[in-house]
Amino acid sequence: EHGTATATIMLMGDTCTRGCRFCSVKTARQPSPLDPDEPYNTAKAIAAWGLDYVVLTSVDRDDIADGGAEHFAKTVSNLKERNSQIMVECLTPDFRGDLAAVEKIAQSGLDVYAHNVETVRELQRHVRDPRANIDQSLNVLRHAKAVRPDILTKTSIMLGLGETDRQIYNTLTELREAGVDCLTLGQYMQPTKRHLKVEEYVTPERFVHWEEVGKEMGFVYTASGPLVRSSYKAGETHRDRDTRGDTRGDTRRHTETHTHTHTHTHTHRDINMDTTNQSRFIHLLINMNSVH
Ligand code: SF4
Repeated sequence: EHGTATATIMLMGDTCTRGCRFCSVKTARQPSPLDPDEPYNTAKAIAAWGLDYVVLTSVDRDDIADGGAEHFAKTVSNLKERNSQIMVECLTPDFRGDLAAVEKIAQSGLDVYAHNVETVRELQRHVRDPRANIDQSLNVLRHAKAVRPDILTKTSIMLGLGETDRQIYNTLTELREAGVDCLTLGQYMQPTKRHLKVEEYVTPERFVHWEEVGKEMGFVYTASGPLVRSSYKAGETHRDRDTRGDTRGDTRRHTETHTHTHTHTHTHRDINMDTTNQSRFIHLLINMNSVH
């Protein structure tokens, strides 16, 4: 009753042009053409559901000139026209480093620009499709922030693929240097026998450790836990949290800071975001590792 209604919607079909070794999405060189009515129909449906927060994500479409950026952006703008209150997160591909595509989405009216680096620098080639790499991904996140400093940027890392503590730390440092606001860390789970094996089940204590490190480094929000996943969830409203009288440490402090100040002096660092959005937007919780 008091929760935040959220949903994750996958755009542009169910078939990806890439083949990351952790992901079980279908792949093909030439998936079906885009449905030109999808942005309109999706926006119409989402608006009718009365959601508070929606994550729009997609497969990679390297077969399309702009990677589907226009399609993504149209979905957001159609949705915001119908319901300006709904919070929209776009979890996007890297668009092969095409920053014009990134910009198109960043300027579409969204609230959170998410793109996942997936793993530490050293394991990129082992884990992701060869067309992906961390520098390209950092550029996506950096560019989204540069063109819209008022939105939040967000990324996700899977643990348990054989990465070392030093590699994790260094990757988090690079993310902060790229201006990334929100971070999620979750346990990698092997989707089928044909996919990468789990090298380690990271203990809950280690996840807590990384959450602390994220906070110390100045991420606006760090969600870290074995079950944390990358594209589902979301935000909770200040109203909802007040109703529940929920006090969960830092999260609560974030809520109040965002709601009652115009210059949002965050517990860890300042962020510059529209006040109306800030008062509604409390924390990004969890993330999923199936797509992006
Ligand atoms: S993680 Fe994304 S780019 Fe990689 S195969 Fe899955 S859907 Fe495609």
